[in-house]
Amino acid sequence: MTDIEMHIRNMNGLLDWSKKNFPDVITQTIDAGLDALRRLQVIDKPCMFCETFDFATAAVHTSIKGSCISLAGGFTRFSKEERFKYCPVCGRRIKYEN
Ligand SMILES: [Zn+2]
Repeated sequence: MTDIEMHIRNMNGLLDWSKKNFPDVITQTIDAGLDALRRLQVIDKPCMFCETFDFATAAVHTSIKGSCISLAGGFTRFSKEERFKYCPVCGRRIKYEN
């Protein structure tokens, strides 16, 4: 179970409890928080490109002459600073291991 899944489970329990014990405004606030967590859950899931592409083989470079994307050949790997920060397909932040 991910952290987001755990928070959604807990918020669902809190929502049920608040419906019985609190005014509508509090229940609506909890429901809005739950909705935001569900959206975050969708964003947090990697797409097929994220899961399969080796982001160490691609880099972005910017200079006063312009910007470009470089692809590595052979065993070349780019530094973390040069690599994409977000997936170009789904926009999810790419997590690099230290
Ligand atoms: Zn992606």
